[in-house]
Amino acid sequence: MDFNPSPEVAELRERVLDFMDAELYPQEREIMEALDEEVGPGVPYPENLVAVREKARNDGLWNLFMPDERFGPGLKNWEYGLLCEEMGRSPMAAPMAFNCSAPDTGNMEILVDHGTDEQKQRFLQPLLDGEIRSCFSMTEPEVSGSDPTTLQTKAELVDGEWVINGHKWFTSGANGADFAIAMVVTDPDAPPYTRASMILVPVESPGFELIRNVSVMGHDQGPGHCEIRYTDCRVPDSNLLGERGAGFVIAQDRLGPGRIHHCMRAIGTAERAIEMMCKRANSRDSFGGPLADKQFVQDFVAKSRMEVDQARLLTLYAAWQMDTEGKRRARQAISMIKVVAANVVMDVLDRAIQVHGSLGMSDDTPLAGMWRFMRMLRVADGPDEVHKMVIARRELNRAARKAETPDSDGPRHAPVSGTDGSAEPAKATT
Ligand SMILES: Cc1cc2nc3c(=O)[nH]c(=O)nc-3n(C[C@H](O)[C@H](O)[C@H](O)COP(=O)(O)OP(=O)(O)OC[C@H]3O[C@@H](n4cnc5c(N)ncnc54)[C@H](O)[C@@H]3O)c2cc1C
Repeated sequence: MDFNPSPEVAELRERVLDFMDAELYPQEREIMEALDEEVGPGVPYPENLVAVREKARNDGLWNLFMPDERFGPGLKNWEYGLLCEEMGRSPMAAPMAFNCSAPDTGNMEILVDHGTDEQKQRFLQPLLDGEIRSCFSMTEPEVSGSDPTTLQTKAELVDGEWVINGHKWFTSGANGADFAIAMVVTDPDAPPYTRASMILVPVESPGFELIRNVSVMGHDQGPGHCEIRYTDCRVPDSNLLGERGAGFVIAQDRLGPGRIHHCMRAIGTAERAIEMMCKRANSRDSFGGPLADKQFVQDFVAKSRMEVDQARLLTLYAAWQMDTEGKRRARQAISMIKVVAANVVMDVLDRAIQVHGSLGMSDDTPLAGMWRFMRMLRVADGPDEVHKMVIARRELNRAARKAETPDSDGPRHAPVSGTDGSAEPAKATT
C-alpha cells in the first residue's frame, strides 16, 4: 500500500486547501448562520454559499467525489479520501462548497448507476450542476432503523402511479431539497431483503408533507433532519429507481464510499481540533505556566495524535481495499473504520473542548458545533453496536470455518478484512 498521492491528487489537495483558506474560513461562521436563516422550500443554499460554490465550480473544484470520469475527476476512493479529510476541517460548509456533501453524493452515485436516461436528466443533472439538493428518506420513527427489513412505509402501483403511505424521520437535508429518494416496501410478501424499492419523490408531489425539522441537540434550522409524512403521495411509475425490489441492493451500493467519506471527514475535523487544542495549550497560562506544560494536557494531545493517525491509516486501508478488491471484500474494514473514526473524532473534540474551558463550550469557536454535528456518526449509517455485531460475526464465522477444516491452507494470520457471507447492516442513510 502506498498512500502517496499522485501529482494530480496532490495538486487538487493543495487547491482545496488554498480555496478553503481564501474563500471559506474567512466567512465560515456567516455561512453557517445563513444556512440556518435562508434555507427553505425552493432555497437549497444561502446567497453567500452560492457565491462560494460558483467560485469553486469555476476553479474546477466540483463533484470531486465522482468516480465516474464523465462527471468528475474519476479519483479512486482512497485518493478522494485525502480530499475529504481536508473538507472535514469545516464539515458542514466545505463539502457543500465543493458540491460534495451527503446525501447528494450518494444519491448522485446511485442515479448514475441505476437511473434511466429520463431520471438522469430530471434528477441527476441538476444535482451535478449544483442547482438543487436532495435527501434520502429511509428511517422511520415507529421501527428500528438499525434493521431496515422492518420498514413499514408502503408503495402500491395504482393506475400507472406509485401511491406512497408512511412516516419517515431524520431525512437529512429535506428542508430546501428538490426531491427525496424514498426507501419503501413495494412487495410485502417477498423475502425480507427484496421487499423494498427506491422511489424518486419530488417534494411538490401531492401527499408529501414535511412536518418539521427535528430538533437535534438544540438545533432545528437549515437543511435539517426532517420528519416527513407520505399520505397517498403519488408519483409516476417511471420514478422507480432501478429494479423493483432492489432497494437493499442499491442501498448497499451507497454503503462503502459513503462511509469512507464520512470517516475521512471525521479525521479532518479531528485534525483541526488537535490544531486548536495545541494552539490554546501553548497560549493559555494557568498555575504559573502554559497549559502545554501540564501532563494531563500533554496526555490529551498525545492520545489524540496517536488515535487520529491510526484512524486515518485504517480508513485509507479500507478505501484502498475497496479500490483494489471491491466493496464486498472491503466490508469488514469499512465496518471497522465506521466505529473507529466516529469514536476518535468525538474523543478528540471532547479533549479540545476541555482544553478550551468555557470557550470550548461556547459557539465562539467551531468546536461545539463540530461536536454536535459529528455525534450523529455513532448512530447514523449503522450504530456502533450494529457494526461491532457484524465485525464479530465475521470473525467468529471465520474461526468456526477454520475449526471445521483444520488442515486447510487458510491464512496463517487474521486478514484485516473479513470475507464471509454474514449480513451487512443495510444502512445507507446519509
Ligand atoms: C443526525 C442524523 C441524521 C440522519 N440522517 C438520516 C437520513 O438522511 N436518512 C435516513 O433515512 N436516516 C437518517 N438517520 C437515521 C439513522 O440512520 C438511524 O437513526 C440509525 O440507523 C439507527 O436507527 P434508530 O434511530 O431507529 O435506532 P434503533 O434501531 O432503535 O437503535 C437504537 C440503539 O439500539 C442499539 N442497537 C440496535 N441494534 C443493536 C444490536 N443488534 N446490538 C446491540 N445494540 C443494538 C444501538 O445502540 C442503537 O443506537 C439519521 C440519524 C441522525 C442521528
